[in-house]
Amino acid sequence: MSYETRMVLRLAAPGVLVFVAGIILAVAMDALGSLPVAMGGQPFLPGVGDDLALGTGVVALLVYAGRMLRYWRWTRGDTDICFVCSCLLGQERHGRFGTYRKCLGCGKKHAVGRL
Ligand SMILES: [Zn+2]
Repeated sequence: MSYETRMVLRLAAPGVLVFVAGIILAVAMDALGSLPVAMGGQPFLPGVGDDLALGTGVVALLVYAGRMLRYWRWTRGDTDICFVCSCLLGQERHGRFGTYRKCLGCGKKHAVGRL
């Protein structure tokens, strides 16, 4: 797996995780909502599973679009890159030796201010 493939997977992962978690929650809520129907009663919160799935899809799409915007900026060369593998850098973090950014491709840490 190349560093660029690893970078794209790390960029896409939050959107996919939001989508999967939301769909699991929607299925669980739909199952819980239809539980009274199995016992001969009225459905509890009808359509809540569909609404959750739709909302999750929209939120996951927004998260994914935000991450792919970073990827697009990387393809244009408008962002900070790793000097080892030329992949995108992650968010700033505070560590023992100061502020750093971790590369999304090779995983090396780069001190902020010395990029
Ligand atoms: Zn790197």
